Amino acid sequence: MRRPRAAAPPFDRAATTIRAVNLVAVAIPVDGPEEVEAALDAARAAVRDGARLVEWRVDALADRLLPEHAGEALDLVRRLVRDSPAPCIVTVRSASEGGAYRGHDADRISLYEAIGAGEHAPRYLDLECAAFERSANLRQKARLAVAHERQPRDLKTSLILSAHDFDGRPADLQGRIAAMTSEPACAVVKAAWRARSLRDNLEAFELLRERRKPMVALCMGDFGLMSRVLAPKFGGFFTFARGAATAETAAGQPTVRELFDRWRYARIGTATRVYGVVGWPVGHSRSPDLHNAGFDARGIDAVYLPMPVEGSWESFKATVGAMLDFEPLDVGGLSVTVPHKEHLVRFVRERGGTLCPVSERCGTANTLVVGGGANGAARGASPRALHAVNTDAPAAVRALESAAPAASAPSSARASRDSGSLRGRRIALLGAGGTARALAAALVDGGADVVVFNRTRDRAEALAARIAGVTVGGSLDEVASNGAFDVIVNTTPIGLRGSSDEDRSPLADDFRFGRGTTVMDVVYAPRLTPLLRRAREAGATTLDGSTMFVHQAEAQFELWTGAAPPPGLFRATLDSLEPAP
Ligand code: NAP
Repeated sequence: MRRPRAAAPPFDRAATTIRAVNLVAVAIPVDGPEEVEAALDAARAAVRDGARLVEWRVDALADRLLPEHAGEALDLVRRLVRDSPAPCIVTVRSASEGGAYRGHDADRISLYEAIGAGEHAPRYLDLECAAFERSANLRQKARLAVAHERQPRDLKTSLILSAHDFDGRPADLQGRIAAMTSEPACAVVKAAWRARSLRDNLEAFELLRERRKPMVALCMGDFGLMSRVLAPKFGGFFTFARGAATAETAAGQPTVRELFDRWRYARIGTATRVYGVVGWPVGHSRSPDLHNAGFDARGIDAVYLPMPVEGSWESFKATVGAMLDFEPLDVGGLSVTVPHKEHLVRFVRERGGTLCPVSERCGTANTLVVGGGANGAARGASPRALHAVNTDAPAAVRALESAAPAASAPSSARASRDSGSLRGRRIALLGAGGTARALAAALVDGGADVVVFNRTRDRAEALAARIAGVTVGGSLDEVASNGAFDVIVNTTPIGLRGSSDEDRSPLADDFRFGRGTTVMDVVYAPRLTPLLRRAREAGATTLDGSTMFVHQAEAQFELWTGAAPPPGLFRATLDSLEPAP
């Protein structure tokens, strides 16, 4: 579902000063003369999408043409600057900092000088701090190419000094920031490095908070999205994005449209609360789309981001702990998914927080509520109070209750025929992991007769030992030999798109589904898993994982904000991304 877009900030093409409010610079690589027209088209499209600065990345072009064809290079760059649909940055990035320029510094500085002095001057020239510091001659020429206090001429172009590291955090990051900040000719300080975990973003935010000049501090790679989206929250001068059809110039760049539509960039401000989904991997998660749609619809100043955290307890504890302890980030709550649901319970216990009864009993939770959730302060909750909740289990029960009665009459002798009730129904639970544990507890509480089947028998027995009322049926191959079931629920990831088990069903090919059976899969991508396809062909009632997914997300949203998302919004948003088969 397309959400209404917040207006991008206004700009004046002729202005020499740029309003630094949630600015997006689109980086457009121009590798040769033949690409100039397409590059201009890409820039126009990005400006229509909301970009308010264009960075012309002409390093490959300069590498091809300098120094023999310096005149041609100058004409081409001038053309880009003149026809740029928004104020622009010209960058000839050296190969040593991730660019394509391998020539002499003197040649690119001569190009910069000529560009800066032209009739149509760019708003900024970008030069690496390392190159600037390498030679006094280069420094002098760079200072002459841009406007600054000691500049004798009247120039319109300012200098961005930058530092990049595509491998990790530069060891001398603080020193480089200090050097760039203290250079009088430097108008904007820029640092970008590859994040090794989410924690690197926090350092970028600290740098922005302590800045003494306009600054861009960004983390590259899968861990760095937070630094790009939340730049306005910490006073970042602008953020970089890529055009819809252009290659990224740094790993992890979202498109301009994604920034505004998916990540609510125009609405990010100092008071924006931060939510997200912690897991490994999380790139495929649809949770951001649902919750951000909810924040839009309810006018809540918040954003929800994917938060990849490697699988170990140590990574979870260190990363989530650091994010919560960094108070300016203002984390309001987290969704927690595979493989960290048990880690969340342990973490909240260690920090003296509280658990909901289901989490307490089954040892897994998918939701962290910080500071008591909506109106927590008014209710006297400490802003650091932690509460873990399992919204998966009630969501699954709700989904089953809405589907099961029409499909099947209870087979057990103890069965009641209450409409919508699971009481007395015989339920086969496939899998014995965290989700199975939570569902087993909730289903037993609802009066169902739960039999668990799992690849690893020990784990099934551990589940049965923990949740009274559950019995062990055996391995996944033994479901057929355990009699009839009213309901079969798959809680294994078998059938999940992108996994090695994508084309498999947890039940054998010759498994005979009863026509009155309800089959539910917790996997929601794809909606029609191999298990559900076979069940449907056999005439069983099927329920895909999307219903449970929507219900658990709605419950999280309400815990965090105190308001339910508009009825049907999450369902419609998910349907637009994962259409029903
Ligand atoms: P988990 O704790 O890792 O448990 C996974 C279970 O699946 C274990 O019992 C494991 O068996 C079994 N399994 C995994 N791969 C298998 C394979 N190739 N063959 C046979 N059995 C296999 O994971 P979880 O937290 O319970 O999550 C399970 C799934 O539920 C995930 O795909 C998750 O995305 C989904 N989920 C969906 C929703 C929703 O809202 N729709 C909510 C929660 C979870 P062993 O014990 O033998 O390893």
